Amino acid sequence: MRNLPVLLLLCVAVCSARPLEGAARDKDNSMDLVQHYLENYYNLAKDVEKFVRRKDSSPVVKKIQEMQNFLGLKVTGKLDSDTLEVMHKPRCGVPDVREFRTFPGMPKWRKTHLTYRIVNYTLDLPREAIDSAFEKALKVWEEVTPLTFSKIYEGEADIMISFAVGAHGDFFSFDGPGKSLAHAFPPGPGMNGDAHFDDDEHWTKDTSGINLFLAAAHELGHSLGLEHSKNPEALMFPVYNPLTNLARFRLSRDDVDGIQSLYGPPAASPNDPVVPTEPAPPETPAMCDPTLSFDAVSTLRGEILFFKDRYFWRKPLRTLEPGFYLISSFWPSLPSGVDAAYEDTTKDIVFIFKGNQFWAVRGSEIQAGYPRGIQTLGFPPTVRKIDAAVFDKEKRKTYFFVEDKYWRFDEKKRSMDLGFPRRIVEDFPGVGPKVDAVFESFGFFYFFSGSSQLQFDPNAKRVTHILKSNSWFNC
Ligand SMILES: [Zn+2]
Ligand SMILES: [Zn+2]
Repeated sequence: MRNLPVLLLLCVAVCSARPLEGAARDKDNSMDLVQHYLENYYNLAKDVEKFVRRKDSSPVVKKIQEMQNFLGLKVTGKLDSDTLEVMHKPRCGVPDVREFRTFPGMPKWRKTHLTYRIVNYTLDLPREAIDSAFEKALKVWEEVTPLTFSKIYEGEADIMISFAVGAHGDFFSFDGPGKSLAHAFPPGPGMNGDAHFDDDEHWTKDTSGINLFLAAAHELGHSLGLEHSKNPEALMFPVYNPLTNLARFRLSRDDVDGIQSLYGPPAASPNDPVVPTEPAPPETPAMCDPTLSFDAVSTLRGEILFFKDRYFWRKPLRTLEPGFYLISSFWPSLPSGVDAAYEDTTKDIVFIFKGNQFWAVRGSEIQAGYPRGIQTLGFPPTVRKIDAAVFDKEKRKTYFFVEDKYWRFDEKKRSMDLGFPRRIVEDFPGVGPKVDAVFESFGFFYFFSGSSQLQFDPNAKRVTHILKSNSWFNC
């Protein structure tokens, strides 16, 4: 209990039925929500008057930026619609930020066999369904650690599981339907290790309400000592994800690394096969990995997008840290592992290539009529994929790199220029022979090959700088 900060009770004003004009009331409620969100999850000081009425809003802007960075939003420091939307989503009640460390000193259980007890049951589901949700949730962690769990029916268990509404004796009052769904305490004696679920939620076996198994697996992660993860694919990401495919649920690599850093891998049994039968969860690329390479790089409305496998980093020029996203969370119908991408700034369109197809996107919208075949651009059928592409604003030409050659496309005429392909080495000395990705910034072309990056001046036709591929990230 000592480890846990006292959270402010929800402001009474939110619930009071003052006869305000609708829009003004909405705005007021929204501002209360923001204030509480930042106080509860991002350690915004509570001894200040409401920030909406304060002249100096810089601490609040900083907190909004921190929240946007943690949750993978565009870091604007403003309450834009994306930010407000996420603040309205159901989530875990445990805070996200480090300074507010709920779990200082990495607490962990000093034993590998733990007991749990389901103290009471929600009426939303039959008892067997609730028992089975918690059993499955514990199994998720049991499978990747030496930990084992057994259920007890009376007395004090290590992990006491209960359902409650509103104030329930721990200073972390629940808040009615939505918003905070549950919370749990880090390993230790007494209330530590316990997990509380808001019984004002509608708990379900499927995802029609809040899925109990998913929430339980997340909260039990806290009960075992894990904090929140910034990785949107991780079970320990703080915002509830209703799109999780339950049938194919598995821990992300980030979750497995986290829990194994506390408890290590499962103990080997003499009957275990030497080679694990389960494939390892897919690796999440680390932005500061010195061997990092990219599939494709493009600008988008003044930001730089770095594509890698199922993910991309989004880097506004003026902020240091990029945001990290799943491609599918922005463009659900785009494939992963794209080959090339470029922005035609004159049309506000990014073209994205994979194999012999390409897509046109404007912001988050895929344009009608796509994907199209790359042959429609004038490539011969022998070209099966593009390695990299870049648009030259001044000349309104796009350069396509394919193995050791390149093509030049006239965006005004929408046709391939004559006399191509040419060899990359002839016109881009120092670049190649093969290119992974390329983009343009302030008149320079930046070519990526493996973990290295070349700054190229297209007018002087020479390499002006040699950089690491991740030089745009604040590593
Ligand atoms: Zn949580
Ligand atoms: Zn509680």
